[in-house]
Amino acid sequence: MGRFCARCGAEEARYIHGLCSRCFWEDPEIKVPPEVRLFYCRVCRSHMQGKRWFRMKSKLLREDMEDAALTEVARLAELPEGVSISYVRAEVLKEDEEGLPKRLSLKVGLEEAACGTIKEVESLAKVSYMECSACDGATRGAYEATVQVRGEGREVDAEDKKAIEAAFREVDRRTAGRGRQEVTEIKEAGGGYDIKFVSLNSARIFSRRLSEFFGAAVSESPKLIGVSKDTGGRAYRNTVSARLPAARAGTLIEYGGRAFRISGFDRGMAIVEGLDDGKSRRLLKREVEGIRIIRDDDVRPVRLDSRSPGCGAFYDARENRFFEALSDAFPKEMREGEAGIMISIGGGERIFADRKGRAEARKEKKEKEKEKEKEQKRSGEAQ
Ligand SMILES: [Zn+2]
Ligand SMILES: [Zn+2]
Repeated sequence: MGRFCARCGAEEARYIHGLCSRCFWEDPEIKVPPEVRLFYCRVCRSHMQGKRWFRMKSKLLREDMEDAALTEVARLAELPEGVSISYVRAEVLKEDEEGLPKRLSLKVGLEEAACGTIKEVESLAKVSYMECSACDGATRGAYEATVQVRGEGREVDAEDKKAIEAAFREVDRRTAGRGRQEVTEIKEAGGGYDIKFVSLNSARIFSRRLSEFFGAAVSESPKLIGVSKDTGGRAYRNTVSARLPAARAGTLIEYGGRAFRISGFDRGMAIVEGLDDGKSRRLLKREVEGIRIIRDDDVRPVRLDSRSPGCGAFYDARENRFFEALSDAFPKEMREGEAGIMISIGGGERIFADRKGRAEARKEKKEKEKEKEKEQKRSGEAQ
């Protein structure tokens, strides 16, 4: 395998999923939106994401716009499994009377995971300015609780942002019809976010979601701020700490000499699945403390090329080379052509079929398509 491009027959030094790089990047499944819209606060330079305002710390406006554009492009793009957006670079095409960027040209870098090749495509961004909820006089200073979202031993990243978005959606769902904005401000702080909620109730819905579905450790501390004008009783402002765990859903871990994938959390326990037997089990909180996280760098994507009695020949896409493994190092039922991952565990290299990873990628893609359909329907109704 891999001597000619499977589509055009060209010869190249390396192939991406059996195709030359030209054929791979011509895939009609790769769709990047031709234009995205960004919304900024005229006063404090926060940007709106979904229905919420984000304030970025000490960042140039252009850099913040690149980040915001990346999030927006990623939300609207359709990318096949294994392709992700690695960067967005922006250049100002047009400014308004105050010198604020109005139109940006975007260069979007698409990265393919197996070989790490990057393809740059172009897009545009239109920027609109308004006043954010924190700067708008009507809601200024009105908040009961701040939730501090942090990562355990790491900074909050793009993966965590998906968890935060899911928790926001839960708040929206549970407070729908109240007709007010529950979140007045989101600010980058301490490697994570400080999020202000108008009510303690919505702050609790938000942090409970992070705890139950994403394994966050949550604690609440009220602080006396004075006397309530309305009731004459004591008035409190609450700080809720929500620490997202070092290991999260999808993370590969080693526990008791075996490899597992975390599939989710349930009331503080981690639900894990054995890579060797595919069976699910729960790890208690103290057991979770004994796990070792398997870093992405230590996981090599491989493919079984051919098997013979006693051993198998594998292809390592990242290194672009073939190697042999003894048959006790990979699953008996693995078929020729099947993808897998190689992990060093318990002092030796072991290969696992990556069925779960493929199933998850398919599921994620389906969910994304569903959301997009809903959104299109909604915008159709609004017009
Ligand atoms: Zn080709
Ligand atoms: Zn503002």
